[in-house]
Amino acid sequence: MLKNDRFIDSLKDYDEVCWRNPDYLPNPQTPFDLSDIQDAADRLERFAPYIMKAFPETTKSHGIIESELKAIPQMLSALQQKESLDTAAKLYLKCDNALPISGSIKARGGIYEVLKFAETVALESGKLSLTDDYSRLADPEFIQLFSQYSVAVGSTGNLGLSIGIIGAKLGFHTTVHMSHDAKQWKKDLLRKRGVTVVEYAGDFSKAVAKGRQDAESDPMCHFVDDEGSTDLFFGYSVAALRLAKQFDQQGIHISKDNPLFVYLPCGVGGSPGGVAFGLHTVFKENVKVIFVEPTHAPAMLLGMYTHLNDQIAVNDIEIDGKTAADGLAVGKPSRLVGKIMKNILYAETTVDDDRLYEYLTMLADSEGVYLEPSSTAGFAAFVDVNRKLGDQEPSLKHGVHIVWGTGGNMVPPEEMQSYYQKGQSLLQR
Ligand SMILES: *Cc1c(COP(=O)(O)O)cnc(C)c1O
Repeated sequence: MLKNDRFIDSLKDYDEVCWRNPDYLPNPQTPFDLSDIQDAADRLERFAPYIMKAFPETTKSHGIIESELKAIPQMLSALQQKESLDTAAKLYLKCDNALPISGSIKARGGIYEVLKFAETVALESGKLSLTDDYSRLADPEFIQLFSQYSVAVGSTGNLGLSIGIIGAKLGFHTTVHMSHDAKQWKKDLLRKRGVTVVEYAGDFSKAVAKGRQDAESDPMCHFVDDEGSTDLFFGYSVAALRLAKQFDQQGIHISKDNPLFVYLPCGVGGSPGGVAFGLHTVFKENVKVIFVEPTHAPAMLLGMYTHLNDQIAVNDIEIDGKTAADGLAVGKPSRLVGKIMKNILYAETTVDDDRLYEYLTMLADSEGVYLEPSSTAGFAAFVDVNRKLGDQEPSLKHGVHIVWGTGGNMVPPEEMQSYYQKGQSLLQR
């Protein structure tokens, strides 16, 4: 199947591709529905008083972890100029780079999953009831209770940061398994918050498997499984309800004549998959979701194109998985998401690392917003989908286009400065 396949050959050659999903349906069947999203949203509401107390930076939003939807007309002009783009689209940035507590989209799913575990433990103990004021969970009584349990995750990036910060704050013994070459500032930040960071010199995926095994044999430990967790997925999906509310507040009405296009960077697939599922449930045939991955790590695309999902990895077609987009540096997709996305995903593109830095610098210059490289991939998808699919889908030329800014605020300023300079020199070539 993979031999003599021109599309696979272009993936192997690290070409940038634009793939329109032939299985896309405007009204797809899904294994979950609105009640699953609402259940997660209700749980986050119950926790809001706790979040506000434990993380005072969320006072303004009353303990709700949400980001701004920001019109970025200057970035749109800059893109039109640089890419000679012909479009009447309105361009927005969903600023998850600035989400409170952990500065990335992982503050949705990651924090949600740990809160749900804490709620289960607290309810089972008989010390909490659903109608209580959850700010009580910050009391010593509960910190003591949670200290008998542990939370673990294997992640070198933003998921590790999110789980670590919320897990330790609640009082859980929290362990983040990281590869030895993970960034020093991440290890330092987590250790300062009381998280145990375990470093692995060898094969990181084997190390994570070992961490998972250890956790699974311990009934007091909850392991956050990035590759198949439905809790993570539902945590992300709540974004769609919040977005619908923001549209109302800003007087934006999504319809057949004013359709919505959303561009999401994809790693293992949990965050873009959860958001995409939520968006489809809320906006139905009026939304089209586009994923984007690095040319060196097109794990979800390969899984969906071949219908093999998590049964194929990029190494199987001799792709090296090496990319500067560390949030997207994934070889094998989630075992949960590909199947759910089969009829939901509209298209997917891949992007060369250099363009990530260019868009990073352009966004900083035009709008004063700083994203991390993984997080600027959506701009490449916006440009490429408009160029390559605009003729067969004229609605792409107008409507509301949202690039999902998935991370940035956790990156130390010196590091961000070097990303910016790299983009600057690439733009001057
Ligand atoms: C994790 C991450 C993604 C992708 O999320 P997945 O759930 O791995 O697909 C995108 N951008 C950033 C900045 C991330 O940290």
